Amino acid sequence: MPDQTKTIDPASLRGDCAQCFGLCCVALPFAASADFALDKPAGKPCPNLRGDHRCGIHADLRTKGFTGCTVYDCFGAGQKVSQITFGGQDWRTAPKEHARRMFDVFPVVRQLHELLWYLTEALGLDAAGPVHADLRRALERTERLTRQTPEELAALDVAAHRQEVNVLLLRSSELARASVAGPKGKKGQKGKAKDRRGADLIGARLRGADLRGASLRGAYLIAADLTGADLRGADMIGADLRDTDLTDADLTGAFFLTQPQLNAARGSAGTRLPESVSRPVHWTAGG
Ligand code: SF4
Repeated sequence: MPDQTKTIDPASLRGDCAQCFGLCCVALPFAASADFALDKPAGKPCPNLRGDHRCGIHADLRTKGFTGCTVYDCFGAGQKVSQITFGGQDWRTAPKEHARRMFDVFPVVRQLHELLWYLTEALGLDAAGPVHADLRRALERTERLTRQTPEELAALDVAAHRQEVNVLLLRSSELARASVAGPKGKKGQKGKAKDRRGADLIGARLRGADLRGASLRGAYLIAADLTGADLRGADMIGADLRDTDLTDADLTGAFFLTQPQLNAARGSAGTRLPESVSRPVHWTAGG
């Protein structure tokens, strides 16, 4: 049975732009590239951001050269920082120092919320049962950290906390993948075929590949052809899926796959997805 004691509302780990002061469109920097049509330093509002904190080109982001915005998700950090950390105080009307602190804190909370998302996912893995108690403790601690004051959050060593959580996520992955039938149909199969951690698979031809239970942790799958590939039960954490072709691939039971990763990939109505993510609109809308 999946763990029943998790306390995080999944909706709180998804961006709610209506409750946010457009923080990702101000706090984060971006450089002119294939993903962004212009340069923008951190702390400066994007020229497309409207006064009501909505994007003025939301429906046309891809065609106007802002694909990078369509693959971003704050994991609910935007509304947390806007409404809880800063108590609903809008940066537009706040003193400069207050606004600056808000922009500093947002990326910290975003990292913590991403960890909450992974921890929640790990708690849903039946096979990771032996570490569920540790995962719950890490979840509670991470949630507590997100509720610190702006000053405490700005001083937080978030990299150290990530490291601690990562140990648990790795263990959860090992347990979960060991329960998945591998390429030769043997449960718990170890070996190279299943370990593609950090692999350079840019542009690789993996059409129809059997990657059941594989670790694709941090793998570079940019523009790889995974058409029809079997990725059931694979660990997808940090895999770079920009322009990866997932047409008709089977990702049922794949875990640590985030919506931003998926949004960066290509796919089809025939791609099978885990329940934790949604089918990107551009997969079926010709975008
Ligand atoms: S283009 Fe729109 S979504 Fe992207 S940063 Fe600017 S306002 Fe935000």
